[in-house]
Amino acid sequence: MTNAIPLCDATACVQAGCTATVCRGLGIPSNQLVFERSARAIPGGVNSSIRAFKAVGGTPYIVSWANGAYVYDVEGNELIDLVQSYGAIILGHAHPKVTEAIRSAAGDGTSYGAPTPREMKLAEAIAERVPSCERVRFMNSGTEATSTAVRLARGATGRKRIVTFHGNFHGATDALLAAGGSGIATLGLPGTAGVPEEAVANTWVLPYNVVPTLDEDVAAVFVEPVAANMGLVAPVPGFLEGLRAECDRVGALLVFDEVITGFRLGTGGAQGKYDIRPDLTCFGKVIGGGLPIGAVGGRKDIMENLTPLGSVFHAGTLAGNPLATAAGLAALNELTDDVYMELSARTRHVASMLRDACASAGIDAIFPVVGTLAGMYFGNALGGKTPTNFQEACTTSEETYAKVFHALLSAGVALAPGAYESLFVGLAHTDEVVTQLAERVAVGLQGINR
Ligand SMILES: *Cc1c(COP(=O)(O)O)cnc(C)c1O
Repeated sequence: MTNAIPLCDATACVQAGCTATVCRGLGIPSNQLVFERSARAIPGGVNSSIRAFKAVGGTPYIVSWANGAYVYDVEGNELIDLVQSYGAIILGHAHPKVTEAIRSAAGDGTSYGAPTPREMKLAEAIAERVPSCERVRFMNSGTEATSTAVRLARGATGRKRIVTFHGNFHGATDALLAAGGSGIATLGLPGTAGVPEEAVANTWVLPYNVVPTLDEDVAAVFVEPVAANMGLVAPVPGFLEGLRAECDRVGALLVFDEVITGFRLGTGGAQGKYDIRPDLTCFGKVIGGGLPIGAVGGRKDIMENLTPLGSVFHAGTLAGNPLATAAGLAALNELTDDVYMELSARTRHVASMLRDACASAGIDAIFPVVGTLAGMYFGNALGGKTPTNFQEACTTSEETYAKVFHALLSAGVALAPGAYESLFVGLAHTDEVVTQLAERVAVGLQGINR
């Protein structure tokens, strides 16, 4: 039935005024048509649930291509992109060094089923920058990283219990879907269908920013050291230190999920910023330069429980992929301490610009910033206080978020289509782009119907 949906061909497209650089000869004219056609091939038309716009309503923009700070949809609309692949992109889209690294790696073949120097170099680059990562094992997504870390922690300690925190998100892995942030928070569900009780029977979900008292059943505490999947919630002073001490007291492993914060907050991630040494760290997003990747790094004695040295199984046909490791290495090579300083300044600038714009438009909003990360909360339920946990984060007005989202989208600015995501400012958001962003935001918010 796919063919029943009309799509103009490239010629008709050009006749209709569509330029070849925009549609790239695909001859596909509208977001709506592509989305409908996708939905006949892909459940809900998307490969990651949030992309379907369920939380904000309307039809997703379908990206045709992207460059730097901009994404272009199939209709040719230019959007200043504050999604940046939910943080996987930090240098901007199609960064020349990353693109060249991928091109050059692709010419050497794309996967072999044998070790490569590229994966060695990326593992060394991570270990050099993040001292807790004495060994690093690669996989293909952040989800695979957290699920491997769960198995490794249980295998290494001989214990079952996993502790997580409300509003932290650790990917789509059963044991960590007892309650979640991203997606799950948007849907307002306690978990998800398809995860049997048994799969989460050993998972405790506790309030963020409160150091729990653990017992000797606990294999590991999983935490987003800066919570970036419930808006943006900073760890209160003493929280991460307290977790470290409590894990040490009962012999549990402390696992930092740095899938977002790793190489985003700084060369040493959140653990560098707060000077806490976790036992294991999960990575994803930035370390792949925009290609699929995940990694677990950590203490040598724990990591060596993984097969082939130990008895905790791990394998992956595409793990340590030559393209992903080449792209990741190219990205990490650009990310110096100076770059993060610059990026923090820009993030603060964007957040304060948005705060001022909302204030002038009479919209109650809070834009917390932690280094290079920013979040957004709407409404005044907390009297202007910044949320410190999931319950407080959930007081944000999803209705206002949806209005602001659509107002900005119409003005040429892309936010994530969900009220609990972070804002991702990258190196491509130059002063000129931020000036243009401010203009578009002002125009967008003018038309908002409160
Ligand atoms: C994105 C994310 C994940 C999951 O990574 P995927 O690559 O999407 O599987 C895990 N943890 C955190 C903190 C994330 O933000």
